[in-house]
Amino acid sequence: MMPKILVSACLLGKPVRYNGRGLGVESSILQRWLAEGRIIICCPEVAGGLPVPRPPAEIAGGDGGAVLAGKAAVMDRHGTDISTAFIAGAQQALDACRQYGISIAVLAEKSPSCGSGMIYDGRFGGTKIPGAGVTTALLRAYGIRVFNQHAIPAAAEAVGHGQAINP
Ligand code: SF4
Repeated sequence: MMPKILVSACLLGKPVRYNGRGLGVESSILQRWLAEGRIIICCPEVAGGLPVPRPPAEIAGGDGGAVLAGKAAVMDRHGTDISTAFIAGAQQALDACRQYGISIAVLAEKSPSCGSGMIYDGRFGGTKIPGAGVTTALLRAYGIRVFNQHAIPAAAEAVGHGQAINP
């Protein structure tokens, strides 16, 4: 069986972002994976119980790994600590990966859940810092490789290598 890939729901145009919109990335690779039935769609924030739309959120005091360690918090723009929902959503993403034997994920960059290289700095001023979101941090802790929407070809290559190792 062809390996499945976890993909952020918003990257497939699902209107689940904080502002009620999707991102809708154009990618022939994503389209092929969809046609092959290999994509497991996931929105960790909705899975964690947050509504659509919702106030924007950023990680204050660290990155996703720090949130998982209890050393930083996900705060929404109104100052509410919503770390618990983010961690619950991350756990559901991990559960999906385990259920489907997923080792590769393509998640939306800059999100406090799904970011894999850059996140916002927690001050809601538009400043980005290097770091990963909560879901990405948890998936990586379990050996799952996370790519962003700008690196889908690299994700496809990694999936191909995984397929060769685990047919
Ligand atoms: S970036 Fe992740 S958590 Fe945010 S809307 Fe997209 S799938 Fe949901």
